Amino acid sequence: MPKAKPYDINELKVSPKPVLDACSDRISCSTCGKSVKFFCYHCCMPISALSEKIPKIRLPFKLDIIKHPKELNGKSTALHAKIIAPEDVEIVSYSGSCMSGADISKTVLLFPGPDAKSISEMDPVLLDRAVVIDGTWSQAKTMVRDNPELHKMQKVTISPRTTRFWRYQNLDESYLATIEAIYFLYRDSIPNGYNGEYDALMYFYKYFYDLIQSEYAAVPEKRFHSRHQQDYICYDTAVPAENPRAANPDTTAKVNYDFDELDLDRVFVEPK
Ligand SMILES: [Zn+2]
Repeated sequence: MPKAKPYDINELKVSPKPVLDACSDRISCSTCGKSVKFFCYHCCMPISALSEKIPKIRLPFKLDIIKHPKELNGKSTALHAKIIAPEDVEIVSYSGSCMSGADISKTVLLFPGPDAKSISEMDPVLLDRAVVIDGTWSQAKTMVRDNPELHKMQKVTISPRTTRFWRYQNLDESYLATIEAIYFLYRDSIPNGYNGEYDALMYFYKYFYDLIQSEYAAVPEKRFHSRHQQDYICYDTAVPAENPRAANPDTTAKVNYDFDELDLDRVFVEPK
């Protein structure tokens, strides 16, 4: 297995900051009434003020994101894919029969293993859909073992990369956030001539990444959580926030956790 390499998140062709910075307050979701910022985690819909302003893309093959039923409404970067590509992404609650309607011969599962192929070796034209499991490594292993269709699906992998996730993971850096894994699944399906077609999948992720970078760059004496990746904050390239929350003594402790959207889980790509 080649060593995981960092990727350049600043090369993404997305500019979420002007649009999302303009959403200053939380509002009630027009469908379920829950307090939301940019989109509702329960309804998987952007707030109406954003629906025409955020990018919307189509994917070359469909995506099913399988979640553990106990975590169905849990906050996850995986939902970003549903917001950006609503016509092609489904959130599926795991059960023993949740994949019973899938055409196994045209479906691939992003999952490591000795029989996994690189997605770059597959012909995307021949694929109906890809499946990604959003959960812990042990949950995912159990789901793939116990669900007959998941068990039989062709496994695929992506090229190893190190995560740019801000949330501390008790795992090594090659475990990507779910939306990173989804993005690279589509990106690697175009081995030659990729030209930003799926960068929009990283729209919200890039926004939160930049937000944290700029917060910490503005107050260099405030160190990012020491258990995180070393040198996580790129002081050379980060644009310091003009009014950093970290500078306000009342909010210092909350910098990491001020947005529900930052409280996210993670997915693996390669096991240790
Ligand atoms: Zn809602």
